[in-house]
Amino acid sequence: MSNRRPVVRIIGAGPTGALLAILMQRRGHPVELYESRADPRGHRADSGRSINLALADRGIHALRLVGVFDDVAHALLPMRGRLIHDSQGRTSLQPYGQRSNEVIYSVSRHRLNQALLEVALRLPGVTAHFEHRFEAAEFDAGTALIRDLRGDRLLTIPMEPLLATDGAGSAMRRRMNSLNLIEAHETDLEHGYKELSIPADSAGRFGMDPEALHIWPRGNFMLIALPNEDGSFTATLFLPKRGELSFEKLTGAAAIDRFLSEHFPDARRLMPDAITEFERHPVGFLGSVSAKPWHHRGMTALIGDSAHAIVPFHGQGMNCCFEDCVQFDACMDRYSSWESVFQEFFALRKPNTDAIAAMSLDNYLEMRELVAHPKFQLQQALSFELERRHPRRYIPRYSMVMFHHEIPYAMARSRGIIQAGLLAELTSGTASSLADVDFERAQIEIDARLSPL
Ligand SMILES: Cc1cc2nc3c(=O)[nH]c(=O)nc-3n(C[C@H](O)[C@H](O)[C@H](O)COP(=O)(O)OP(=O)(O)OC[C@H]3O[C@@H](n4cnc5c(N)ncnc54)[C@H](O)[C@@H]3O)c2cc1C
Repeated sequence: MSNRRPVVRIIGAGPTGALLAILMQRRGHPVELYESRADPRGHRADSGRSINLALADRGIHALRLVGVFDDVAHALLPMRGRLIHDSQGRTSLQPYGQRSNEVIYSVSRHRLNQALLEVALRLPGVTAHFEHRFEAAEFDAGTALIRDLRGDRLLTIPMEPLLATDGAGSAMRRRMNSLNLIEAHETDLEHGYKELSIPADSAGRFGMDPEALHIWPRGNFMLIALPNEDGSFTATLFLPKRGELSFEKLTGAAAIDRFLSEHFPDARRLMPDAITEFERHPVGFLGSVSAKPWHHRGMTALIGDSAHAIVPFHGQGMNCCFEDCVQFDACMDRYSSWESVFQEFFALRKPNTDAIAAMSLDNYLEMRELVAHPKFQLQQALSFELERRHPRRYIPRYSMVMFHHEIPYAMARSRGIIQAGLLAELTSGTASSLADVDFERAQIEIDARLSPL
């Protein structure tokens, strides 16, 4: 970049905007953040809206590179695997990986966002304007309109650059799309989600194993729960929005209670407020965003969910956004204009964000249905065995995505497709245990189909 250090303006002070502000300041740019909500540092999280998230290697790697990992490390709760609850209330653990460091972490979205903003706003030259909503961009004039919601005043700010990290419903993306500057699509999943809580017991202890992500897979729907620091769990019910068994049909305390007690009896016993919460909490939207390109000239670029929101079933949305921030920053080393940085960033990231979008959709079926099938469990055990026998060529797809930031998403996906074919072939027919697998054939096929990593 040139020696002139223009002000970098960022709309949206969520996880992506806050991390990006830190990176831009470190390059010597003054940074102005415009955020439509109130300052989260002084507020509790909204209840009913994705309270905790899974943080994995890609997100952690980015936080370490930026030097903020230690600021959030104390709030992370390790989860070793999926703890599956069947309809009889029996449980079984499916480990995520086979090394002690192969865990993912539950973290409060609100605390993480607060911590990142605290770090950003301690840096000289970073300012945040809360309750300031981006409303429109005038590309001919190179300006954007921001409404100060406290005084209901309209401010005009210059772009060049204005980085849009305003999330999945990005007003900037919609504006660019409506002017045909980009081509963007929002795909709405037929399923929605609702948050419920499993409180700590009277002594403040966890009511279930805190070192796992709990899943109640029920075919076309599922309940999951992630631990919180205070001994509680946040549970999320994923269910079709319409149809026979759906959020639309579940109205009235009796129907809600019957549904929860019938399908999740063990969880229901731990959720004393489930009916009130069910009636009070909104049904959350689940969808994906696809756009191309992510920028207009050197004026503005979409980064994070605004460019490529994905469904949450791989627990990678925010991890992917953090990886975006680091790679955007790296592009600034190599290029001398905003336009070329934006172009390079898009070219580098788009194949990878498309890949994680596809893998996240695949994972919904895996979580809500396949995890309960013996064949899937055999293939998972075989996947670990192949990784032990051929560590340079075979890494389970889930592990590539969650524990190997050095493997780009697109590569994880393409190798994952080859590996899935291999697993299906090696466990076809009546194979029911690892003893039924032909490992000599496995070696020949792995050598032929998977290049060394
Ligand atoms: C149910 C659910 C579960 C999830 N679980 C995981 C998980 O386990 N792991 C994971 O990695 N990811 C997960 N995600 C995804 C993750 O939440 C997102 O990828 C991440 O929050 C995106 O960060 P962002 O900063 O790009 O967008 P956001 O978090 O949406 O932040 C955007 C910010 O912009 C502000 N804003 C919006 N419009 C304007 C405007 N016009 N003007 C000014 N400000 C504006 C918003 O108030 C907000 O603060 C999950 C998502 C959902 C819905």
